Amino acid sequence: SDTLTEHFIDEDAMLAWCDLGAKKLKSGLVIHLQGDLGMGKTTWSRGIIQGMGHEGRVKSPTYTLVEPYELSTRKVYHFDLYRLADPEELEFMGVRDYFTDDTLCLIEWPEKGAGVLPEADIEVQLTQWQDGRCMTCKALTKKGEQQLGAWS
Ligand code: ADP
Ligand code: MG
Repeated sequence: SDTLTEHFIDEDAMLAWCDLGAKKLKSGLVIHLQGDLGMGKTTWSRGIIQGMGHEGRVKSPTYTLVEPYELSTRKVYHFDLYRLADPEELEFMGVRDYFTDDTLCLIEWPEKGAGVLPEADIEVQLTQWQDGRCMTCKALTKKGEQQLGAWS
């Protein structure tokens, strides 16, 4: 199927899903995170990165634009492009090299990097639901579809 929807009653419920989801994560995925400020994009990313085995903090890359994580199994790049003025800046940072078959790229505010960033395999949309959040994952590629299958 090409969409997956989950409702999380609170942050802990979402983090528990991310922890399991991280363990079933395939390689070489580009995930775009959609949702207003405060909807939990960074929290979701933290859940995935820590679920993949990162033991330290996961800070919001609001000012650095991208934060790399070197895990035992693969590299993760966590982007927050909210403050990106021009997509060309990404070219100067050399981000094209970040998108390979053994990296995971999690991107907040991907529309700010349009034209430079690759298309998403999966779009994760976070919206308010009661006091928690609704997550809708949409697969946009074959690889994304396979991932949603693994998560379902
Ligand atoms: P974003 O990166 O989308 O701006 P954050 O991840 O920084 O959002 O989260 C903003 C706030 O929302 C934080 O205070 C966090 O604790 C809260 N939050 C995150 N996920 C959830 C959730 N699933 N349910 C309830 N609150 C959440
Ligand atoms: Mg954020």
